[in-house]
Amino acid sequence: MTGARTGALAALAAAALAAGCGCEDAAAPVPAGGAGAGGVGGGASSTPSPPPEVIHAGKQGLLLRGVVLAPQGVLDPGEVLVVGQTIRCVAADCTKAEGAASATWIDTHGVVSPGLIDSHNHVAYDFLPEWVPDPPRTFENRYQWTEDPQYEEHIRPYAAHKSENAYFCPGAKWGELRALGSCIDWGIRNADRYHGMGYDHMQQTIGSVRDIADAEAAKLIAGFDAPAEPFTRFAVHMAEGFAGDHVDEEFDSFAGRDPRPGYHQDLSLLYKGTAVLIHSIPLSEGQLQEALATESKIVWSPSSNFALYGAGVTAPIRRILQLGIVTGLGPDWTVSGQDEMLSEMRFALGYARDAGIGQVTPERLWRMATADGAVVVGLQEYMGRLEPGERADVAVFGRTGPDPYLALVESRAADVRLVLLDGQGYFGDAGLPSLTRRNEHCEDFDACGTAKFICVQDSPDAEGRRNETLADIHQQLYDILEGVAGAPPEEQYGRGDELLELVDCGI
Ligand SMILES: [Zn+2]
Repeated sequence: MTGARTGALAALAAAALAAGCGCEDAAAPVPAGGAGAGGVGGGASSTPSPPPEVIHAGKQGLLLRGVVLAPQGVLDPGEVLVVGQTIRCVAADCTKAEGAASATWIDTHGVVSPGLIDSHNHVAYDFLPEWVPDPPRTFENRYQWTEDPQYEEHIRPYAAHKSENAYFCPGAKWGELRALGSCIDWGIRNADRYHGMGYDHMQQTIGSVRDIADAEAAKLIAGFDAPAEPFTRFAVHMAEGFAGDHVDEEFDSFAGRDPRPGYHQDLSLLYKGTAVLIHSIPLSEGQLQEALATESKIVWSPSSNFALYGAGVTAPIRRILQLGIVTGLGPDWTVSGQDEMLSEMRFALGYARDAGIGQVTPERLWRMATADGAVVVGLQEYMGRLEPGERADVAVFGRTGPDPYLALVESRAADVRLVLLDGQGYFGDAGLPSLTRRNEHCEDFDACGTAKFICVQDSPDAEGRRNETLADIHQQLYDILEGVAGAPPEEQYGRGDELLELVDCGI
């Protein structure tokens, strides 16, 4: 599965898939080890905050007190009241709001945020570790590495069988748990599949946009113009790379300026604000202006770009943000990008600080991962902001410091105190009252020495997979990496130990 996701180990992440060298920043100095390899650096940093406290026991609903990242600004202190699947109140004081008296009040001593939205990820691959070419090398564009025999070998245990539920389901579940964020669409929302909000509004293609011929383009336009349930987003990998294989021609082709007959000449797919341009590395000033004028969205994936194309080779983020193009963030996948959204945010911030890109602040990254990300994936009516009436996708981070946005960005899995989707807790501190948990099957989970709960069972039923535990899914993935018992030698991999755990405690 490809797509954007909303979920959260790291917080709620949401979804869209689309796939660029602005290269504006390609010459920027990058520190040894690469930006984002570890600490964010610079500025006053955050520290773990005191443990959460229950201050009023109730029967239904949650009132979360803390530093609240509200649309109108930081509420410190602030409160968020969740009743059922909906946010009821966001204010300095919600204790008098309807439903508050019967809710459980928790002083989180942390930062309360909308769930994080990962604007682009290939979720089902996210049990695979990073692919490190031997010898180390980078590429000019995505058509090069996707045909590299080493890369094909790296992903083969999964890719060779990805259409089978026995492979897809555990992969997708693991990816969702990692983001914690059906076998799918349960621990997180996948914006390009059913997500429980409205209808399936998103189209995507994984292929080159230069392969979109007349008939497909006409069909897409008809879908964007449909009187009922129109497609409101079309996500594409746009110009992923900086040279070769016509990557620099992709934008103009998409915009109806492909000189080859049969490729929707004069029919631009930058249409009605639907376009989600993932990567967008070599876009020119004129193309960026066109993206802005057509209300197109961009997804920035710096960690994956650096790994594949070289340090500093990524979208021209400074100019993109200056122009005000709505921009989301996504690690792409664990094969080349960071493991989850918080790591990607730290990577992005580290790069921006080293390269002197002042537009990329902790607050801006947070917006990219919440409200702007929701617009990117087309779910802004439902999520991305802590506002009364929105769906209660909420994440609580247990850090404190002068800049709550930086405290959020510096959070690791152990700092994620609670993740709610539709008001139901999927991950959180083990010591929180049981009503924060979505059901009675939630399991203990050790997040780098911090006791958590994680709710795995009672997933959508696909082939009897409803009651799988974390250990069950782990075993299935281990077996996939080991290979097929009794299969020919080329399908016996012996790579079970490479399984990427949900949380990397080494960072
Ligand atoms: Zn991708």
